[in-house]
Amino acid sequence: MAKLEFTYGSMGSSKTALALMRNFDLKEGGFNVLLLKPSTDNRDGSIIIKSRVGIEAEAKTYDKKDKLLVKFMDEILDCDCVIVDEVQFSTKKQIIELKKIAEEFNKPVYTYGLRTDFKLRFFEGSETLFKLADVINCLSKKCECGNEAIVNARYDDNGIIYEGEQVLLGSNDRYKAICYSCYKKGRLNGRRS
Ligand SMILES: [Zn+2]
Repeated sequence: MAKLEFTYGSMGSSKTALALMRNFDLKEGGFNVLLLKPSTDNRDGSIIIKSRVGIEAEAKTYDKKDKLLVKFMDEILDCDCVIVDEVQFSTKKQIIELKKIAEEFNKPVYTYGLRTDFKLRFFEGSETLFKLADVINCLSKKCECGNEAIVNARYDDNGIIYEGEQVLLGSNDRYKAICYSCYKKGRLNGRRS
């Protein structure tokens, strides 16, 4: 039985770079990889995933209403393994489908994403992965104060934002990975501002 793996980390912890490197390595090894990414804006089809270190690859997208085992059945049967970037935006049902791809179709599934949102609440996809993943990896990322950055703080020109929708489309808000202490104290740069 193949495994469902979840690698999580804060923003800027190189999750996408690792997903793309794994994709690259597997393809170079002759494996047929199905690269997927949930869409948050309901655009369908394929997109190019890019990482800050310069690697890129084409991925197929799905939205919250898609059944993965229907939409991608041909690709799933045809592939050797599945990689999912930004997996936190998947629904609970879709994570259960990923588990099934590993368990019943015997294809390893490697997923990458955030643990929690800017309010420190679970994303549905990540919460379900914590329950179902066979392997869980945590990527380290430091806050500017030196502590472990575990919060993906949302901020604007006035500082850290503590309330609002989990995913804001078309917003000018920005995100930064900081530690819990700095989050609580409203420090974006690891020190009092
Ligand atoms: Zn800090």
